Amino acid sequence: MIIEVRKLLTKGKYEGTFAFDFVPEKDKILVPLSSIDKVDVEGKYEIYDDDSVGVTFTLKYNLKGQCSYCLADAEQAIEYSTEVLFVTDKNDCDNYVYDGVKVDLKVAVDDALLFSQPAVLLCKEGCEGIKIN
Ligand SMILES: [Zn+2]
Repeated sequence: MIIEVRKLLTKGKYEGTFAFDFVPEKDKILVPLSSIDKVDVEGKYEIYDDDSVGVTFTLKYNLKGQCSYCLADAEQAIEYSTEVLFVTDKNDCDNYVYDGVKVDLKVAVDDALLFSQPAVLLCKEGCEGIKIN
């Protein structure tokens, strides 16, 4: 997903919304034995006077796989919102850097996908794992 900052500015548009979905790469799924069919992304952006671009977005997806404790089938709906800033200053380590022309959301969305994943996937809240008699 690309935000054409330069083009938007020439049209006098400083803010807008976006929505898209994507299939995550396998190496972006952190919970063992789980998968994500599709991630829905919805958000909005605002281009500021100094050419920085603030982007707020929400990821929604179902994490499917095996319970981390008992290995039963498990599925968890996840929703995660974040706010990031794209700047043109290459020395800015706190924000994402872009070239002043286009913002590519891929890295920010991939980062959010990593942050949004739980440490474990459970079949139900309070699963006690495999019972050993
Ligand atoms: Zn379980």
